[in-house]
Amino acid sequence: METKDAMETRDAIEILRSLKEKGIRFTPQRQAILEYLLATDTHPTAEEIYRQVKEKFPGVSLGTVYNTLNMLKENNFLLELDCGEMSARFDGNAENHYHAVCRQCGKVVDFHTDLLQLDTLASASTGFSIETHRLVFYGLCGQCRMIH
Ligand code: ZN
Ligand code: MN
Repeated sequence: METKDAMETRDAIEILRSLKEKGIRFTPQRQAILEYLLATDTHPTAEEIYRQVKEKFPGVSLGTVYNTLNMLKENNFLLELDCGEMSARFDGNAENHYHAVCRQCGKVVDFHTDLLQLDTLASASTGFSIETHRLVFYGLCGQCRMIH
């Protein structure tokens, strides 16, 4: 498991405690799922999260993983990324940021930049009140570029 991002401000227990106040059950499995998501920057699929958490909690089911991911997504503690692959990828960093996807090895890398003026442009052009936008960059990562 990767080391915890120094920029990470909220930990799993803190998030789950705040959700408990909304009536959402705090379980050790949910804690393990969220801890894994907050500690990794690989943008894992639900199956990858399931395999990791199962090592610590052999009784955990894929259903519990999906259920927890949906709950975290609905409460804005998780991003679900559509990277043009079969399975969605999940990001424990729900702050607005962008991603570059390697079309060869499938690696998903964070890209932090402020493009919030895009919302203003889109709003002015369409008359919508813009709530969010998605932007994914596709290409070859540094490692795959060396091979090709
Ligand atoms: Zn690659
Ligand atoms: Mn990310």
